[in-house]
Amino acid sequence: MAALVLVLNAGSSSIKFSVLSAEAKEPLLIAKGQVEGIGAAPRFVARDAEGKTLVDRRWDGAADDPPNDHAEALAVLIDALDSRLGERKIAAIGHRVVHGGPDLAAPVVVDATVMALLEGLVPLAPLHQPHNLAGIRAATAAFPGVPQVACFDTAFHRAKAWVADTFALPPRYYDQGIRRYGFHGLSYEYIASRIAAEDPALGAGRLVVAHLGNGASLCAMANGRCVDTSMGFTALDGVPMGTRCGQIDPGVLIHLMQTEGMDSDALTHMLYHDCGLKGLSGVSQDVREIEAAGTPRAQRALAHFAFRVRREIGALAASLGGLDALVFTAGIGENARALRGQICDGLGVLGVHLDTAANLANAPEISEVGSPVRVLVRGTDEERMIARHTLALLAA
Ligand code: ADP
Repeated sequence: MAALVLVLNAGSSSIKFSVLSAEAKEPLLIAKGQVEGIGAAPRFVARDAEGKTLVDRRWDGAADDPPNDHAEALAVLIDALDSRLGERKIAAIGHRVVHGGPDLAAPVVVDATVMALLEGLVPLAPLHQPHNLAGIRAATAAFPGVPQVACFDTAFHRAKAWVADTFALPPRYYDQGIRRYGFHGLSYEYIASRIAAEDPALGAGRLVVAHLGNGASLCAMANGRCVDTSMGFTALDGVPMGTRCGQIDPGVLIHLMQTEGMDSDALTHMLYHDCGLKGLSGVSQDVREIEAAGTPRAQRALAHFAFRVRREIGALAASLGGLDALVFTAGIGENARALRGQICDGLGVLGVHLDTAANLANAPEISEVGSPVRVLVRGTDEERMIARHTLALLAA
């Protein structure tokens, strides 16, 4: 009987899912979608591999009972899938889990011991980890006996050396787990595998990958392994993002606590939700809307974003001791041509020479012919990476 793998990414008010077939060497996407607005005004959307809408459902309250938590949302999803997948059975479920802590450097099959370990990591990612674990619990209850595999955003970065992993704090804090974990690891791992498959020599080289979406980070990798990354202990660090501040002098936080009486809740809210492109532009967190606004303040926000990303590329090239390729991925990286141009402007010193026409055409390779550093644009696919890991663990 044909086997399927279900990939789940459970967030605070949403469950994103993908269903992939497991027969071929490479998992094949069958359907993907999400239940969003859980607990408020939920909407369930599912699309097939070509993007054709299979389900688009909203709930109108009272008589039509909407899903109120992850378990109920998963039940809605299973119900919709059941009628479409026929004889095909879910053989394994792969979960995106934000944090694997200091020790989990690879995906694992979840059992009670692993679950307890992951629960223990909640303080390291209180905004994401509890929802990821709620997704695992809901899937375990809905699919008893089906293997659940946890794949971590941090795992790819565990390869980096201590110098890139530590803060300059007394060592007891490192031992307690206060480290530069880094995130978006599944995206980086996918891009590394994709470049290696396309061009093994380049895959073995020195790459900086810029994952620029609403959340944004960059990763320096050599021979497909992480050497350094812009995010640190939390997903606040590194470059500015849609609503997050990126790297900030810790003295600013002390100052705000002392002068404005801000406590940890107030700081958390501001740094995660009111900063970055949204805070700077005063328009939106969305690059398309900021570009459309075109006000001096909006332009300054984009210029600052480009400046900080450019600076990070320079820092990561230094971490690698040189650069063979720069790869742009995620919503901004794959689409925001003007911003890509702004980021690369001035990187000639590193050997990055953009081909303006190729960049505007959104070509897969946007550097000049003969540019010492190749500049590539590639789509990422974290769900596929999770499916691959899940199937590999199942086979083992
Ligand atoms: P998430 O981290 O939520 O997955 P995405 O990877 O979808 O985010 O990236 C969202 C960002 O990509 C938004 O700022 C959006 O404006 C930007 N983006 C998407 N398409 C374009 C485009 N055509 N031009 C400029 N920016 C774009």
